[in-house]
Amino acid sequence: MPAQSVDTPTTTSRPRTERAAVRLEGVRKVFGDVEAVAGIDLEIDEGEFFSMLGPSGSGKTTTLRMIAGFELPTAGRILLDGEDVSQRPPFERDVNTVFQDYALFPHMDVGDNVAYGLMVRKVPREARALRVEDALRMVRLQGLDRRKPSQLSGGQRQRVALARALINRPRVLLLDEPLGALDLKLREEMQIELKRIQQEVGITFIYVTHDQEEALTMSDRLAVFNRGRIEQVGAPADVYERPATAFVAGFVGTSNLLRGAVAEAVVGRTGMFTVRPEKIHLGEPGASVGADEIGALGQIRDVVYVGPDTRYIVALDAGADLVVTQQNLATSSTEALVARGRAVRLVWKREHCLPIADLA
Ligand code: ATP
Repeated sequence: MPAQSVDTPTTTSRPRTERAAVRLEGVRKVFGDVEAVAGIDLEIDEGEFFSMLGPSGSGKTTTLRMIAGFELPTAGRILLDGEDVSQRPPFERDVNTVFQDYALFPHMDVGDNVAYGLMVRKVPREARALRVEDALRMVRLQGLDRRKPSQLSGGQRQRVALARALINRPRVLLLDEPLGALDLKLREEMQIELKRIQQEVGITFIYVTHDQEEALTMSDRLAVFNRGRIEQVGAPADVYERPATAFVAGFVGTSNLLRGAVAEAVVGRTGMFTVRPEKIHLGEPGASVGADEIGALGQIRDVVYVGPDTRYIVALDAGADLVVTQQNLATSSTEALVARGRAVRLVWKREHCLPIADLA
């Protein structure tokens, strides 16, 4: 069965793997009268960097905690490497978790923090020292093993937490918004680092985030969560270029929806359609429209200059607003800003006008 959710569309159909690293079957979780996870099916492959993306409260963390064993499902099954672990406690599952707040022991130095899992398993001191050295090298913290967590930066602490979680070489590493506490620049650096480390160790990573850019940058595949359900599973380019639902189109990128009478007037068909802002060309009102293109007249309502690009919000004569992004190849901020109020014709390729389902 392809990785997909119950009764919801997906653009990806993949051949069924014999034994997925993680498999969720009809998993549901209810807290009192809140249905946090509403029955999801998912398959995550061995060695995959897989992200669970969605807004706050959509059920990502609860799903992760059920895989870890910190929560038990109300219904459904969780299989790790083909084995049903649904009722097993966390320490009997070959997974490890990295939390956003690092959860380091403040009184222990970096070396002991990283070695902790090996000490619990009674690995002899010399073997431990070698593995700690190896783990610290992997996260590029060689030579810092005698420091206390309080003597490290946020990014360094996050690396210690990662080294500590990886030292036992779990089959699956679960990461719950691990970069959430870092500033933007450090977060971007750590995204690249995390991807490198995952490729080096070859362990399956399951990564929870509400940041679409983070999910698109790092993942081999991702699942988009909304209200306890998965609306789409696919590779980043699949999900971005071919969003299956209105929710996905809006959450992963800018939604740019055409529906109802506007769709009929602009696209010439009934239904709901989306077009990505960078696919639209902004031209003079007299600009020609080819046979394989769609054109729509409108007026620039607002201009947002964002350095490398400018975002134009265009009110279509047919009735909806569309966002258009243009690279500032030769445009200065002053030129961009005076475009407000100008009449324009938007033109885009028919193939970039994507029909989507509306589950709302
Ligand atoms: P965030 O990004 O904010 O962490 P999330 O997508 O991870 O959000 P969850 O933490 O899984 O979402 O929460 C899903 C829903 O379940 C929310 O409505 C939340 O309030 C509720 N919930 C989660 N844990 C509990 C709990 N222990 N008791 C009661 N309700 C809970």
